[in-house]
Amino acid sequence: MVSYNYLPKQFINPEPIFDDIRELIKTGDFTLGQKVTDFEVQFASLLGAKHAIGVGSGTDAIKLSLKACGIKAGDGVITAANTFVATIGAICELGARPVFVDVQANYVMDTGLIRKAIEKEKKGPTPIKAIVPVHFTGEPVEMDEVMNVAKEYDLKIIEDACQSILAKYKEKTCGTIGHCGAFSLHPLKNINVWADGGVIVTNSDEYAKKLKLLRNHGLKNRDEVTVLGFNSRLDTIQAIVGLHLLPHALEITKKRQENAKYYDKHLAACEFITLPPHREHCEPVYHLYMFRVPSKWRNPLVDYLNNQSIEAKVHYPIPIYRQEALDLICQDHFPFTDIQADQVVSIPVDQHVTRPEQDYVIDRIAEFFA
Ligand SMILES: *Cc1c(COP(=O)(O)O)cnc(C)c1O
Repeated sequence: MVSYNYLPKQFINPEPIFDDIRELIKTGDFTLGQKVTDFEVQFASLLGAKHAIGVGSGTDAIKLSLKACGIKAGDGVITAANTFVATIGAICELGARPVFVDVQANYVMDTGLIRKAIEKEKKGPTPIKAIVPVHFTGEPVEMDEVMNVAKEYDLKIIEDACQSILAKYKEKTCGTIGHCGAFSLHPLKNINVWADGGVIVTNSDEYAKKLKLLRNHGLKNRDEVTVLGFNSRLDTIQAIVGLHLLPHALEITKKRQENAKYYDKHLAACEFITLPPHREHCEPVYHLYMFRVPSKWRNPLVDYLNNQSIEAKVHYPIPIYRQEALDLICQDHFPFTDIQADQVVSIPVDQHVTRPEQDYVIDRIAEFFA
């Protein structure tokens, strides 16, 4: 079985983590404990950001960042038409209004379309106040273009870096380029803990201060509330798990990149497969390894691989903007997002996939097209 779930392998030796949890229990330092601070310091240092703030989830990381940047109910927020539901959920939880732009061949937002969307929305109910670029699959968005538009229109940029820890855009780490960057520590993400968890990075002292209030009910101290916030703290036990993962973050990233390169090399030869274009100035981290095949072959290929014990998946068969829940929010159409929904296939690329497993996957794909 070439499976997606590698967590039993990742945590095959949990004893050192249990030891630290036992020590924590002796102290009772459960809520925003010292280990949360230790984790934040190490996370910030790993990413080269000034501040890291641990929160309850990646979704909350986006929501709190938008709030800290002053985004209010009704404000327009531009994002990609093909992201995971959480990006949209976070925007809508604040009462803000998601506005979609289409994607390009590398699965991320087509930044050439942002200006047009902003201009169009000037006639809409409320103007655009922020952009949430999503580094989907671990592939960086063209951030120079996003930042140029942001300057021109005075917009806040919250990077959804939930799938892209340690991805690089022109030597810069994704998540540290905009005003805030949101990360997820969900068990399915590249750096994962045992439950929900999230982190926000920012280089702004002002936002860092606001975010620390917002995650803890807006409490300045035990008795004083300065703003109304949320209950969204990174759990101290999960911070302990995270502290055991962070020292391996670079090695995990490198392994995923090597695995992706190996797939690239062998799948490029197949005339039915379209790989995302390679950009010299980007280093993707392959949260997902995704390629496209002609629409009519997509579901048969996924079924074929599943029957051969390979957990191939589709991210996602129904684009978020077409989901029933968004009927009232979005009436537009995004042709390239639709094409991708019909053509994409994801195969396991994590740090535990072995070369023989990759060869097996490659051979089964070749066999299918033969
Ligand atoms: C996983 C994910 C999130 C949300 O993260 P959670 O920790 O599950 O709340 C947001 N955006 C994207 C693109 C994601 O993949």
